[in-house]
Amino acid sequence: MEKGRIFKALSGFYYVRTENNRVYECKGRGVFRQKNITPLVGDFVVFTSDKCEEGYITEIKQRKNQLKRPPIANVDQAIIVTSVSMPQFNQMLLDRFLVSIEAKEIKPIIFITKMDLLSPKNREKIYDIKQVYEQIGYDVELISTKTKEDLSRLKKYFSHKVSVVAGQSGVGKSSLLNALNASLLMATDDVSLSLGRGKHTTRHVELVEVYDGLVADTPGFSSLEFTGIGEEELEDLFPEIRRIKNQCRFRSCRHDQEPQCAVKNAVTNGHIHKQRFTHYLNFLEEIKSRKPRYS
Ligand code: GDP
Ligand code: ZN
Repeated sequence: MEKGRIFKALSGFYYVRTENNRVYECKGRGVFRQKNITPLVGDFVVFTSDKCEEGYITEIKQRKNQLKRPPIANVDQAIIVTSVSMPQFNQMLLDRFLVSIEAKEIKPIIFITKMDLLSPKNREKIYDIKQVYEQIGYDVELISTKTKEDLSRLKKYFSHKVSVVAGQSGVGKSSLLNALNASLLMATDDVSLSLGRGKHTTRHVELVEVYDGLVADTPGFSSLEFTGIGEEELEDLFPEIRRIKNQCRFRSCRHDQEPQCAVKNAVTNGHIHKQRFTHYLNFLEEIKSRKPRYS
């Protein structure tokens, strides 16, 4: 009996690393297929091995969480990458990512990239945005993979954590991962364009080392449709609303039309950022108007 963690899945094989850093190529036992359980990258497993470096997974330890895309278990945090320009910074999209990640009970971290593209005047605006999100309680880093601005500050986020990177296409996710781990050689837009092929075409998922942590080599949270998020759940996905919602007059307050609402008061007196609240209402509307699905 050996114990380890799956760091790569490829054509029916699971690559398991043990605590003393040995790698085993394992197959899943038929019993998993019968029970409709598939081992996932990120799983802690027990396996047997009668040949060196080959084995059979016999047990999957209880998962803390799991994602569909990329298929990976036990994720500690999601790093939202968003650029100041090209594509234009979009706060509504940032809030969408935050809500989707909060809904999975994964810790979000915000990296704002391409700082080198900003004029000094526009830098101020990003500093303000950084402050807004820091006040909510999120970690925010302003970086550039081009000038390497503040890249050295990022180490602490990765240590001993399993991370997925999320963000719109073109914001610099692959460039960032390449800058942090040169052995990765992820295809960036520049490379994939010159080679005439799209990115992320690989079908396998792998956790790669970045500093003392592991990062999924495929971005996550590509669908941000709030499926599975209920009307009453949304308030909990905005930490600044979650903190004060109990002070509203009505327990069922959705912080919309209701009187004596602590959340709306906080918006009026500036404790809750107006734009964030607007996005809360936009998302609430979106969830309410979601067509029921009968399939
Ligand atoms: P992804 O789709 O999020 O993985 O984005 P890529 O890493 O492929 O980057 C998209 C484009 O942005 C490429 O042309 C990169 O060279 C460029 N890029 C990435 N990071 C930066 C940066 O910090 N500054 C500037 N000016 N360009 C960047
Ligand atoms: Zn309220």
